[in-house]
Amino acid sequence: MSMNFAWSPEQIAFYKSVVNFAQQELNQDLIEKDKSSQFNQTGWDKCAEFGVLGWSIPQEYGGQGNDPLTTILGLEALGYGCRDNGLVFSINNHLWSCAVSILNFGTQAQKQKYLPALCQGKSIGGHALTEPNSGSAAFDMQTEAVLQEDYYILNGTKTFISNAPLGDVYITFARTNPDLGIQQGISAFIIDKNLPGLTIEKEWSKSGLRTAPMGELVFQDCKVPVDRCLGKEGKGYNIFQSTIGWERSFLFASNVGIMERILDQCVKYARKRRQFGQHIGSFQAVSHKIAEMKMRLELAKLMIYKIGWLKKEGKRAFLESSISKIFISEGLVETCRDAIQIHGAKGYITDYELERELRDSIAGTIYAGTSEIHRGIIATLLGL
Ligand SMILES: Cc1cc2nc3c(=O)[nH]c(=O)nc-3n(C[C@H](O)[C@H](O)[C@H](O)COP(=O)(O)OP(=O)(O)OC[C@H]3O[C@@H](n4cnc5c(N)ncnc54)[C@H](O)[C@@H]3O)c2cc1C
Repeated sequence: MSMNFAWSPEQIAFYKSVVNFAQQELNQDLIEKDKSSQFNQTGWDKCAEFGVLGWSIPQEYGGQGNDPLTTILGLEALGYGCRDNGLVFSINNHLWSCAVSILNFGTQAQKQKYLPALCQGKSIGGHALTEPNSGSAAFDMQTEAVLQEDYYILNGTKTFISNAPLGDVYITFARTNPDLGIQQGISAFIIDKNLPGLTIEKEWSKSGLRTAPMGELVFQDCKVPVDRCLGKEGKGYNIFQSTIGWERSFLFASNVGIMERILDQCVKYARKRRQFGQHIGSFQAVSHKIAEMKMRLELAKLMIYKIGWLKKEGKRAFLESSISKIFISEGLVETCRDAIQIHGAKGYITDYELERELRDSIAGTIYAGTSEIHRGIIATLLGL
């Protein structure tokens, strides 16, 4: 089957409308918000109004029902237009790790209960997997859920959780039957923030993505009603694999938009800034950095659109999403470093906002599976 991801006039109009919306509505007071680690609630509400929070959710549950390729284009446009990378990261977490998990694995009742509020942005979603002693080895988790009549009793700690403590709903994972191993012994749960026995603690301060909150969920004899088990008991591993597949594939579409925004900024600056009587873009040492940025951008686009096309065809994109996750996250760090170098001292100064781009970009090589873990996945898929 031949790949086809040529954009229709409607998709091109959609891209432009998202860029315009994001540039006009989402970039206010960014330096201050970054300094004070302030979540962009106004931006969030505006995104909800614009439909962003339900792009990938069918209309019957309050979403926009966009196909995967159109959603990728929208996320890319959001990354291009919105310089608040923390807000874009929060939105992606909410969409891919929470809403889409409920959509794909929830019962009809769960979908009706949670999805409309998530699409309207009245409810903020998150995904709680990582624990103090299990990061990359996520399935060495200690959190356990014991069934007692109509409730599961959860005990354990989930840490480095994006959108906590602001979140209203989290998808979490716990051991329900360790004897059955990883494949069948772990279950997923939909957790409301107000459940008795759940405290949301510790707001972490971090180097970048400072406008995206990050906290810790502590379960102490937390009573979770049985109807909050997502999918069937024991299906946690399958749910995680599917969720992380969507997240790895789509979250990084926004980073492609960020790459293009920074490239455009560098081209503009290199054509304007003069040293030694000529614009700095005429020095090969500068122009080649920009050419590399363009090469990375075009290859990143090809990769991410291929994933969108595969998903649209209902196919898996396991290998492709690991390749693109590494390529885009590491490529964005390179692009940010080169952009700082091209801007000289201005690149390093807070007011010019490029140092923030670099701080924000570094996280991408860690979350959603580190670069090392993804290289390992690619090697395994090659039979090594
Ligand atoms: C900004 C941000 C947001 C996050 N949001 C969430 C969230 O919403 N929900 C959530 O559950 N988690 C979240 N995380 C946590 C993230 O998933 C973990 O940080 C990540 O899985 C790595 O785990 P770790 O930090 O414990 O590192 P470790 O697993 O301890 O790894 C440390 C180092 O060892 C390397 N390493 C480990 N194992 C191997 C191996 N087998 N082969 C080669 N190298 C290896 C790693 O690549 C890394 O370089 C977030 C993290 C960040 C930075």
